Amino acid sequence: MDYQALAELLFPNVTDTPESLEERFPLRNAPEGAVITRMAPSPTGFVHLGNLVQGLTSERMAHQSGGVLFLRVEDTDAKREVPGAVEVLIDTLKHYGINFDEGATHTGDAGLYGPYRQRQRAAIYHVYAKKLVSEGQAYPCFCTEEELAAMREKQEAAKETTGYYGAYAMWRDRSMEDIQAQLAAGNPWVLRFKSTGSIENQFKFDDLVKGKLTITENNVDHVLLKSDGIPTYHFAHAVDDHLMRTTHVVRGDEWLPTLPFHIQLFKALGFKLPKYVHIGPLMKMDGNSKRKLSKRKDPELALTFYKAEGFPVEAVYEYIMTLLNSNYEDWRRANPTAPATDFKFSPKKLNPAGNLFDYAKLTDVSKNEIAKMDAAKVYALLTAWAKEYDPDFGEKLASDADYATKILAIGRGGKKPRKDLATWKDAKDYMGFFYDEYLEKPAFAEKFSAETVRTALEKFLAVYNYSDDSGVWFDKVKAITEEMGFTTDMKAYKADPDAFPGTVSDISTFIRQAVTGKTNSPDLYTVMQILGYERTVQRIRNCMAALN
Ligand code: GLU
Repeated sequence: MDYQALAELLFPNVTDTPESLEERFPLRNAPEGAVITRMAPSPTGFVHLGNLVQGLTSERMAHQSGGVLFLRVEDTDAKREVPGAVEVLIDTLKHYGINFDEGATHTGDAGLYGPYRQRQRAAIYHVYAKKLVSEGQAYPCFCTEEELAAMREKQEAAKETTGYYGAYAMWRDRSMEDIQAQLAAGNPWVLRFKSTGSIENQFKFDDLVKGKLTITENNVDHVLLKSDGIPTYHFAHAVDDHLMRTTHVVRGDEWLPTLPFHIQLFKALGFKLPKYVHIGPLMKMDGNSKRKLSKRKDPELALTFYKAEGFPVEAVYEYIMTLLNSNYEDWRRANPTAPATDFKFSPKKLNPAGNLFDYAKLTDVSKNEIAKMDAAKVYALLTAWAKEYDPDFGEKLASDADYATKILAIGRGGKKPRKDLATWKDAKDYMGFFYDEYLEKPAFAEKFSAETVRTALEKFLAVYNYSDDSGVWFDKVKAITEEMGFTTDMKAYKADPDAFPGTVSDISTFIRQAVTGKTNSPDLYTVMQILGYERTVQRIRNCMAALN
């Protein structure tokens, strides 16, 4: 077979050469040890936690080594493409602090190694396709769907491995005449790799996450170009990551089964193999067993979920870091206020088996993160969230920034900050009562009569003075307690509960409920200070009027 002639026959219009492409995309001028890596998502419009895990790993590896992170859009599957998906992806990752140095952007491509969208790279793939054909390393296959299905059935019946390999590779050694006849008839074809591998052979391979792997050679003649001339993932991966000068491929471990083929392909193309960082899946507990997070079953897989729930970016970032590097938490304890980017991230610390995603832990981390923020930051983030997801609340927050910030400052700062909020969604329940429209009608404990509650409130109104400090304020509450025969002596009450109608805590609760509608609230004295005298008194009066 004259492979050169076959190459010309299949790719008559390809005049560019691998050499000219090498020149067009020269080795990068990067410092020693710099990691050049990429995110290569398919623009399906669904941005998920896996993207974030991969994104953070790549971003950290690139930027902490003085390297480059670029965005390549793997849009070879037009059926799955969603308009606007690239923009959503860029914005979502940016939201989480993942910024690309080059690649696809909102306004086209930026960088010298483009185009960065695979559909625009068809001519480049064809240069290498032609080269492989001319070397006898690839060939056209005219099999129909029916023929492939029949082959599969035969293999299944004979309990053989299914696939296009060995004796089953029907177009592997066909004559030029056969090929010409098919082309003349206008029959569609795919380009297949002519594998010289054998499943009898194994070799060792080092993955940065999985460690030493024993790999069995690939013997399947995988498709390189589909019938429309668009490459498969495998072929595009090899060509793109070579020409874009990728040093590290960070990707999900669902690609491990095809790694033997990728290694083979890089070799066949004469490309230096990049290093591989295969990330394990994110799992969750489902009953007593672990399973992979699923797009269909688990809303928490989508990154939009965290935004809508109101988890601050800092919390999600922090949690993912604790998942990815087991020493991150210790580092954080030693460096409570350092930016997360000071941490020395290592792909070797990733759990090869993947990670268990623990929602409760994320919630805890988020409580801490929010507790660390100052009131102005909480106000800004909460208001931005509410404007989008709870516009009514958002408007209230925005209408008086000073008031809302004062509320959010309660219990903030100091050694033991309050941890009331895990997400912005929690905020309305926590502080909504500060806004009259959200004030709920209190439900007083049934063991106290309306008369008792009214008396306590009346007494409080009679002595309440806005200028009192918290000590004097509380002394007054205690005095009311004693006047009503309730006790301030919690020990005595515990010893003999029947001796008293209730305690100072019950009296405080009456007042708290009248003012906040709730049995639980931040420090009541401070609440009244922020509400102001008029409003506090008005609320207590309204409550008394409604008692029966
Ligand atoms: N388009 C592939 C995916 O979304 C990219 C895998 C890779 O990073 O190489 O899974």
